[in-house]
Amino acid sequence: MRLLLVEDDTLLGDGIRSGLEQEGYAVDWVESAESAELAMETGQYDLMILDLGLPGMPGLTLLKRLREGENDLPVLILTARDAVQDRIEGLDSGADDYLSKPFDLEELAARIRALLRRRSGRANPVIRHGNLTLDPAAHEVTLDDRPVDISPREFAILQMLLENRGKVMSRSRLEEGLYSWNAEVESNTVEVHIHHLRRKLGAELIRTIRGVGYIIDKPR
Ligand code: CA
Repeated sequence: MRLLLVEDDTLLGDGIRSGLEQEGYAVDWVESAESAELAMETGQYDLMILDLGLPGMPGLTLLKRLREGENDLPVLILTARDAVQDRIEGLDSGADDYLSKPFDLEELAARIRALLRRRSGRANPVIRHGNLTLDPAAHEVTLDDRPVDISPREFAILQMLLENRGKVMSRSRLEEGLYSWNAEVESNTVEVHIHHLRRKLGAELIRTIRGVGYIIDKPR
C-alpha cells in the first residue's frame, strides 16, 4: 500500500513517515499541496494524509480540486486541535476522516486501516480466503489456523493481492506498493517474494499471468 503524506512540519512529517513505514506502508512525503499534485501525476496512491495548514496552496483547496476532478482517493485530514470549523469544512469538502493534532501514531495507523478496509468493500478487519487469514492490524497470517512466518514485504504483497482478488496486479503496481521514493528497488524482488509466499502458503494460491502480473482468484 502506498500513501501520500502532505505535511509541512518536518519533525511531524518525519515521525509519521517512519512510523507508517514500520507498519509496512510505502510512504511518499511532500511538504506542499503543489508537490502533492505533481506526485499524483506520476504515482498511484491508496490513501492521502493531508495537513490543512500548508504554505502556498491550502490543504482544503487541494482536497476540493481532487474531488472536482472526480478523484476518489481516500483522504484523512490533519487539523489543529481547536479548529472545529476546519474539520467540518474538510469533511464537507470530501475528506473521509480526520485527526486533530497532536495525535497518537497508533490511532493514525488504525484509522488508515479502517479507510483502506472500507475502500476495498470490507467490514471485517480480518481478510479470509479459504483456509487462509490475514490480519492487517496484528500483521498476522494464518493457514489452517496456524500462524505463518512471513516477512513485512511478503505480507504487503499478499495483502495487496487479497484486497484485489479477481484482479491481475502488475509487477510494477506491486512494486509501487512496496517502495517509496527513497528506497532502492531491486529488480527481481517481487518474483522472489512471490516465490517465498508460494512455498509458505501453497503453489496454487497465487497465479502468474504471463507477461501481465499476478492474481489471487475470487473464492468460488
Ligand atoms: Ca502545517
